[in-house]
Amino acid sequence: MTSIVSARNVSKSYGSTLAVDNVSFDIEKGRIMGLIGPNGAGKTTLLKAVLGLTDCQGTLSVLGLDPFRQRKDLMQNICFIADVAVLPRWIKVSQLLDFLESIHPRFSRERAEELLAQTKIHKTAKVRELSKGMVTQLHLSIITAIDAKLLVLDEPTIGLDIIFRKDFYANLLNDYFDEERTIIITTHQVEEIENLLTDVMFINDGRVVLDTPMEAVSERYVELMATAENAAKAKHLNPIYEKDVFGKKVMTFEGVEREQLQGLGDLRTPDVADLFVAKVKGAAQ
Ligand code: ADP
Repeated sequence: MTSIVSARNVSKSYGSTLAVDNVSFDIEKGRIMGLIGPNGAGKTTLLKAVLGLTDCQGTLSVLGLDPFRQRKDLMQNICFIADVAVLPRWIKVSQLLDFLESIHPRFSRERAEELLAQTKIHKTAKVRELSKGMVTQLHLSIITAIDAKLLVLDEPTIGLDIIFRKDFYANLLNDYFDEERTIIITTHQVEEIENLLTDVMFINDGRVVLDTPMEAVSERYVELMATAENAAKAKHLNPIYEKDVFGKKVMTFEGVEREQLQGLGDLRTPDVADLFVAKVKGAAQ
């Protein structure tokens, strides 16, 4: 396996605030990693470090480079979208293509034009004349036309309605992603992206609290909904988190075989949002 991002004991402080606290992880080629955490968890700081926008302590390697010190080389193989709606409103689509062609060695104008031909976007239109959805399509078309090895998306669909958000992710999977590429995404709307992720990393108070391939989630975690009587029995198996729902106990277990819980109530694999709550709140229970 090839590590696209490799972090060892990476920390970053702003004054007395420890934004990223001694994190270590690897992201392999061809993966789509969801970086999930509440506001202030350290996601943006970590992404900035990966993009070489901020220095950090520890060892960080991205595409085999030190992102802060070899940023220029790194940028040739990385794409970053902070928010899809940031294209200058005055620019014409054709001017945008001219601009990208002149600055980016890996931008393929031919590919961008091919993709735009599948939309209603005319090359003579200005960005301000396009609908929000069309701007998203335009943004994705130009990103897709850049032959980058790593795409970093920080809350890319903020401000877009649900249809555009769905289209954005569908296009990302269909037109962009392949096993030669790697994507890191942060979003608050975890439920919209969880089917697309191959891996998930939870971050809270600057620390990684979970880093797992998605397929391992159903093997390692199970949620039980039990009556009070069964809940007392299940409690002996040490749930990592429990909550009350409609008079029943919902418990999340880590590393407990489903057979051991059979007969105690309904079992299901927690979704990413529930698992996040279980890991973060459970640690505080
Ligand atoms: P997230 O992206 O998960 O919301 P951030 O990485 O933006 O979290 O922030 C992590 C912590 O670092 C927060 O406590 C935030 O206030 C602090 N922080 C982020 N950027 C700066 C900065 N430029 N100066 C000072 N503190 C910062």
